[in-house]
Amino acid sequence: MKPAPFAYHRAATIDEALALLAEHGREAKPLAGGQSLIPAMNFRLATPAMLVDLNAIGDLAYVRSDDGGAIRLGAMTRHRTVERSDEVARAAPLLHEAMPWIAHPAIRTRGTIGGSLAHADPAAELPAVMLALDARVGVRSRQRAREIAAAEFFTGLFSTALEPGEIVTEIVIPPPDGGARHGSAFLEFSRRHGDFALAGVAASVALDDRGRCSSARIALLSVGDRPLLATEAANALVGPPPSRDAVRAAAAIAAEREIDPSTDIHASSRYRRQLASVLTRRALERAFARAGAPV
Ligand SMILES: Cc1cc2nc3c(=O)[nH]c(=O)nc-3n(C[C@H](O)[C@H](O)[C@H](O)COP(=O)(O)OP(=O)(O)OC[C@H]3O[C@@H](n4cnc5c(N)ncnc54)[C@H](O)[C@@H]3O)c2cc1C
Repeated sequence: MKPAPFAYHRAATIDEALALLAEHGREAKPLAGGQSLIPAMNFRLATPAMLVDLNAIGDLAYVRSDDGGAIRLGAMTRHRTVERSDEVARAAPLLHEAMPWIAHPAIRTRGTIGGSLAHADPAAELPAVMLALDARVGVRSRQRAREIAAAEFFTGLFSTALEPGEIVTEIVIPPPDGGARHGSAFLEFSRRHGDFALAGVAASVALDDRGRCSSARIALLSVGDRPLLATEAANALVGPPPSRDAVRAAAAIAAEREIDPSTDIHASSRYRRQLASVLTRRALERAFARAGAPV
């Protein structure tokens, strides 16, 4: 299939892109790496009358650390740049670990972090990672700039809190939550490496100076209409030192009570729940081991 006819404008600056999006409203769509939008247009699942190409806007592509210890990623930063960034590997090891799971190198060379979050595929890795990292999504329209917590950004199947005329400009990953020691882990299962996962989990934990679990975040992908934060499971871990039983109980809570997997041609709902339970247990075990507290 070929796309329906559309107009194309390559914006040179953020302001130019925002002006075009404001002028054309819902008829216009930003074009980032095109790895999801162009196939959707070719299948005529998306038929924007105008594409506003963000690829020439250098101000949207960067990896920076700020004085507060947060790491800031411009929306147009390619997956491959994030994957190869030493700064990301040091400051956000969970994100670093997840990157090679996204598609294949050719797709990671074009695809962007902002495009992945704006696309909001419930099977994508980055939305779940951003939930686990408690990241914020910086967005701008011609009228205003605001930040949205990742937990409020994903509102449903391929849906976000972005309003017409707004684009994602930046992703802000805060330094890890209090605690003396931290650990994280990303795991997913797909039939072939590079395929979208049947289920996946991103886990991040912190321990206080007496070895007690002081915070935990668990986010799951491909088990609902959006990436899901398993808050009840995570809260169940906080307080005592981590243990094998506590990890098993948390995995059971996440898989039984906090996800809503569907059955499709790839896997049954029941199978996805089982996968979510096993992956959550393993990811937590790995995260606690990396924090220096093997269970
Ligand atoms: C064969 C194949 C396999 C893939 N496998 C995976 C996988 O395993 N895991 C995974 O996560 N992804 C996978 N992808 C998708 C890939 O990661 C894409 O890069 C990503 O989903 C979208 O990023 P993009 O930059 O290409 O965005 P685009 O395709 O350009 O845009 C996607 C959507 O986001 C909007 N958009 C883009 N940028 C912005 C912005 N800054 N502000 C507001 N809206 C914006 C667009 O208008 C469009 O609606 C796969 C893609 C292909 C083709």
